[in-house]
Amino acid sequence: MELITFVFDEEYHPSILKKMSTNQRYALYYRANDCSARYEYQYIFDYSELERKPLSKYFSAAQLIDIEDEKYENVELRAFCVKHHVLAEEIDAIAELTCDPMTRFQCSSMEDMLMFEFGEMLTKSVQLRKCKSCGKHFIMKGNYDTNYCDRVSEGESRNCQELAAQENYKKKMADNTAIPLYQKYYKRYAVRVHVRQIKELDFKKWKYQAMTNRDECSDGKITLSEFEVWLEASFPNQKKRNWEKGHMHRCGLLLYLPVITAMRSSSTITHSYIINK
Ligand SMILES: [Zn+2]
Repeated sequence: MELITFVFDEEYHPSILKKMSTNQRYALYYRANDCSARYEYQYIFDYSELERKPLSKYFSAAQLIDIEDEKYENVELRAFCVKHHVLAEEIDAIAELTCDPMTRFQCSSMEDMLMFEFGEMLTKSVQLRKCKSCGKHFIMKGNYDTNYCDRVSEGESRNCQELAAQENYKKKMADNTAIPLYQKYYKRYAVRVHVRQIKELDFKKWKYQAMTNRDECSDGKITLSEFEVWLEASFPNQKKRNWEKGHMHRCGLLLYLPVITAMRSSSTITHSYIINK
């Protein structure tokens, strides 16, 4: 366990060990503990099928039978069997087998076995991380960067990753002030789109940018007041803008044209209304 922490744990003295690869950390561990990093295993290569029936490695039929007395289909087969001391039946039996070679490492102790596994992990550049939820080690798959494993802990219906995502979402929602602020301005500008003070396309562009900024604000990349300043400034104040451009009156007229038409019969009210605008 100490070795796993030393080699794989990113939080173990990161200022010293972060710059080192897992292999370098492993080498350092052995250097520090003044022992050899060398482990030897017995490598076994075998055709295990040869040990099964009808063949047996203990008894070769040819040992008990006089090969020369057997009947053969042809002269060549007889010559071959006599020369190689093998029965025709054995040739047929082996021809039926798949004969996949079997390889294995033989370890003589539990420690050897664990060290073998450890060596395999280093050879295959496996990334190991400690789950921030259940505390167990897990292997990182692909490029997916996560601090949580995909085990389902006892008494849970979802794995650590799913639980963490849910918790994270809840937390984000609970202390997020960017969302209500975004909603406030969304409503304000949506009303202005409705009364055609803001173009639909401009609003769409704004919405995309606002959502991006909202998420950046949620992630702490920009402050809430920066976000608010941006929201406030994204569309110029309607009255001020019209005043500056000097066509407030015309805009007001266009905007309330349906109202004016409806109110035509009562011209005094309409007149005063326009003047007020
Ligand atoms: Zn976990």
